[in-house]
Amino acid sequence: MTPSATASAIPSVLPTYSRAPLNFVKGAGSWLTEADGRRFLDLGAGIAVNALGHAHPALVDALTEQAGKVWHLSNLYEIPQQQALADRLVEATFADTVFFTNSGTEACELAVKMVRKHWYDKGQPERVEIITFDGSFHGRSSAAIAAAGSEKMTKGFGPLLGGFTHLPWGDHEALRAAVSDKTAAILIEPVQGEGGIRPLPDQCLKGLRDMCDETGALLVLDEVQCGVGRTGKLFAHEWAGIEPDIMMVAKGIGGGFPLGAVLAKAEAARGMGAGTHGSTYGGNPLGCAVGLKVMEIVAEPAFLADVNARAGGLRQKLEGLVAAHPDVFEGVRGTGLMLGLKCKVAPAEFVSAGYAAEVITVPAADNVVRLLPALNIGEDDISEAVTRLDRAATAVSEGLKA
Ligand SMILES: *Cc1c(COP(=O)(O)O)cnc(C)c1O
Repeated sequence: MTPSATASAIPSVLPTYSRAPLNFVKGAGSWLTEADGRRFLDLGAGIAVNALGHAHPALVDALTEQAGKVWHLSNLYEIPQQQALADRLVEATFADTVFFTNSGTEACELAVKMVRKHWYDKGQPERVEIITFDGSFHGRSSAAIAAAGSEKMTKGFGPLLGGFTHLPWGDHEALRAAVSDKTAAILIEPVQGEGGIRPLPDQCLKGLRDMCDETGALLVLDEVQCGVGRTGKLFAHEWAGIEPDIMMVAKGIGGGFPLGAVLAKAEAARGMGAGTHGSTYGGNPLGCAVGLKVMEIVAEPAFLADVNARAGGLRQKLEGLVAAHPDVFEGVRGTGLMLGLKCKVAPAEFVSAGYAAEVITVPAADNVVRLLPALNIGEDDISEAVTRLDRAATAVSEGLKA
């Protein structure tokens, strides 16, 4: 039935997204080809998911090689690819143990359960309060929307899971007043993504670590968007020289294949024994084979050094773009290849102008347009991207004058 057939009609795809009329049929590196033949430069990377661009040969090989062997094995059996990826993550990070999920939302679910079980096992079952922050995003499940707490996500979906205290972002007084030896955990994104590319200053992340050490609260970091090399370190918290107790990962770790994970220290995870949690697909051979290849590439110091070099170059060009279009932009923010253009116009308007200029960007809250290119985007593609962004900004600017 066509959408307009009757008043009660609903599109056959549940219309929870308002989609741009773009139909990409092929991807290669930082380029996407539309069905009509136009080639778009992709500065969204599926919202920081295609960390190595589209159809990276090493990832295609890892996936197809595994696809020819075995796709799915129940977690009732050993899964060597899962074991290998867990070992690699433990080796490369603060974590002692890893649980694999298929998404960031599922990672959030487990992180919340792990916090609760931790305090339950410590004989403080009443210690359930998790502190979270305005503008955060942790996914769309009942727990994840309750954690983030914004009306935009929670309205109509009550009663919400209890136990979350939402604080204003960057309000140190409110934080000091809220954190006590009753606090179960603090949950925060080191760089807010959906909230508009807002990096938490290193000294604030250090301060949160100190508060958790003083009160015993667990520090839970959501690195679903900012992790896996996005900021120029393997994980964003490394810049602050601190370690979390629990960390959520997804998006980039699968390079485009659905994969997520919760990483944790032994002390935080000890309560999660056999039967306490599970997932049919979590840690499947296909996802873990790809994730292992992503880690092999991204965790290399030389690769991360290149990310930082590219990030510096892009940022400098973006500063020039902002300076050239003061009527459209207010400034550049962010870190590494997780950058935002703070706009004076509606971000959606700039994103649309970008589509016309054949460059893909992603809107966020706080009047920001996100640039989350593939971590391996080439210098020529960066230059071409900025040329196209400039074209889009000129179009928006001319629209303002019209
Ligand atoms: C995307 C995102 C999530 C949710 O991940 P899904 O894979 O969409 O479930 C959680 N936290 C952050 C910071 C994200 O950017």
